[in-house]
Amino acid sequence: MLVHRNVANLVDPSDSNAMSVIHFAVTELQVRHIVVCGHYMCGGIKAAMERELDAPLGSWLQQIRVLASKHKKELEAIDNLDGRFRRLVELNVLAQCKTVVNLTLIQELIRGKGFPTVHGWVFNMHTGELVDLNFQP
Ligand SMILES: [Zn+2]
Repeated sequence: MLVHRNVANLVDPSDSNAMSVIHFAVTELQVRHIVVCGHYMCGGIKAAMERELDAPLGSWLQQIRVLASKHKKELEAIDNLDGRFRRLVELNVLAQCKTVVNLTLIQELIRGKGFPTVHGWVFNMHTGELVDLNFQP
């Protein structure tokens, strides 16, 4: 198992660290499952929702803001902030799964070998529950 972590569990194709981890995992270690695991109460997501942030954190979290505005309707239909926050955490995990599955390398492997499979999970640190978001590419 190979683990890569960052603020708000983002997968950015321009992030050579994350791309190297994925590349190494699937080509050298023959990893068959990639899990994007976020967590409720994520401070990175919360910060992006609440306020403007200076670079580099502000630019790193920019895609969370873009995602939130893309799903504005759905999020605003949730009548409490905590629920919106939880949903944005989930939407973020699903968006990152999409980024992973659409990487050229991953697409080629899926077409050629049928794996890796990409999974989106959210961890609830208070209950210990791990929620599978059933990501479908
Ligand atoms: Zn977090």
